[in-house]
Amino acid sequence: MDVFGLIGNPVGHSVSPPMHEAAYEACEMDARYVTFEPDKGGVAAALGGAEALGISGLNVTIPFKERVAELVETDPLAERIGAVNTVDFDGEPTGYNTDAAGLVRAFEHHDVELSGSAVVVGAGGAGRAAAFALADEGMSVHIANRTVERAESLADEVPNASSGGLADLGDRLAGADVLVNATSVGMESDETPVPKAALHDGLAVLDAVYAPIETRLLREAASVGARTVDGAWMLLFQGVEAFEIWTGRSAPIEVMNTALRSSL
Ligand code: NAP
Repeated sequence: MDVFGLIGNPVGHSVSPPMHEAAYEACEMDARYVTFEPDKGGVAAALGGAEALGISGLNVTIPFKERVAELVETDPLAERIGAVNTVDFDGEPTGYNTDAAGLVRAFEHHDVELSGSAVVVGAGGAGRAAAFALADEGMSVHIANRTVERAESLADEVPNASSGGLADLGDRLAGADVLVNATSVGMESDETPVPKAALHDGLAVLDAVYAPIETRLLREAASVGARTVDGAWMLLFQGVEAFEIWTGRSAPIEVMNTALRSSL
């Protein structure tokens, strides 16, 4: 049997187990997906233990993504982002960041063309993944963050990027094609980091927040005629990417999507 899993702290409410196990069943794989909750300082020991036990692959979530990037070989994109959310133990343990590819595939699934200019709100882990992913697609990226210094230092690393705070989002969004909310604002609340007046019908808006699935930002974006992509699509495609890295086969996307959405 192949064992895959997730390390994080906490991991109690993760929807990754049902999403991945639905894929194993659909592909008739003898595999399980298990959650592990090491102590905050125990991630290096957990990775060594996973390798010694023959675990095939691990997803990584808060608060370990940055630490794991220091502990394993990383692919070039994960290296630049400085965070790993997927480790493949086939051969030398290698870390990937599938949040970035998940974001791009979520847009592509909705036929959103990733060209022109993008505004990424947030400069934490999700903001870093979004900014590098969209810049790599050839977009010019503006990073807006509550803590402006954090946006500035990210913009120094991302090609063709600018930075600022949240106050001038209206000006920044006026000619933009894509908006990503990569803050935690809206998670389990009816708040939004972007004023409704700044939204327009030329935007495609992805909210990384997936609980609730329809956030206030997405509701207000739809009401002005913008295209919307909810955070469950990004969550789905980061899992799809991880499955494909681990198994080398195409993921059963519809099956995973159904399992994910019925678990959220
Ligand atoms: P993080 O590293 O802790 O970053 C949090 C970000 O939110 C920072 O930019 C922070 O700004 C900003 N923020 C927090 N509270 C704020 C407030 N009250 N007003 C304005 N900005 C605020 O977290 P993360 O890992 O990037 O995750 C961010 C969100 O994305 C979470 O909701 C997470 O669940 C979601 N996410 C979703 C997926 C997916 O697949 N859908 C993947 C990854 C993450 P400061 O820098 O000023 O503190």
